[in-house]
Amino acid sequence: MLEAPYPELDDLLTMMGAAGRHLAEIEASEGAAGNISVCLRWPLELRTRFPMIEEIELPQSVPELAGATFLVSGSGRRLREIIDEPTANIACIVVNEGGRTGKLYSSYHRRFERVTSEFNSHLAVHYDQICATNTNFHAVIHGQPLHLTYLSHIPRYQDEQYLNTHLLRWQPETIINLPEGIGFIPFQVPSSPELMAGNIEALRKHRIVVWSKHGVMARSDVSIKRAADRVE
Ligand SMILES: [Zn+2]
Repeated sequence: MLEAPYPELDDLLTMMGAAGRHLAEIEASEGAAGNISVCLRWPLELRTRFPMIEEIELPQSVPELAGATFLVSGSGRRLREIIDEPTANIACIVVNEGGRTGKLYSSYHRRFERVTSEFNSHLAVHYDQICATNTNFHAVIHGQPLHLTYLSHIPRYQDEQYLNTHLLRWQPETIINLPEGIGFIPFQVPSSPELMAGNIEALRKHRIVVWSKHGVMARSDVSIKRAADRVE
C-alpha cells in the first residue's frame, strides 16, 4: 500500500524501465523474455503519453478493480529497452465498470500488437492479492534468472521443500527477504490457464514462485524495484 503523494505516470514508467534494465543486467531477461506489470488505484492522466484508446476484453472478469489502472509491458518487447522509450514498450489498461472489459491506452510509437502473453497470470495475481489485502499498488514481474531456471531442470530441486532447504541457507539475507520461502510450480505451458492457476495459489503464500524449466514470478505491494529484488 502506498501513501500520498502517489507516483506520477512518468515516475512509474521510469521505475518499470529501471527494473527492466536491472533484470537484463542480472541475466534474468534474455532477448524479449520476461514481463512487468503494475496495478494502481489512484487516478492517472494517461492521454498525454498514451493517446490511442481501444476497448479490449480482459482475460478474466475483475469487477472489484473497476477504475484501476494497469501499466503492462508489450508482447515481444525487451525489458532492457523500456527505460529508453517507455511508451514504445508499455501500454495502460483501465478497467471498465463491471470488470469484464477495459480501455487500452497506447502511444503512436507503440511497437507491439498486444500486451504480454502472460497478462492472464499478471491480472489474476493482481486481482487475488488486491482483493485479499485492498492494496492500492501492486507490482508483478516475470523473469528468467539463469541459475534458478537451471536448478529447476534438476529433478531433486523440483520439490518445494528441497529447493527451499538448499536455497535459503545460501546466505543469511535470503530468509529475511523471503520469510515465506520460495514457491514452486511444475512445468506448465506458457500463458496457459494452468500456469495462471498455479501462480495465484503459489503467490498467495509466497512473494516469489519458481516456474519449473522456465523462470520466476515475483510480486510486491511496495515497489517495482522490490519485486525485481526478489528475482535478484
Ligand atoms: Zn517467460
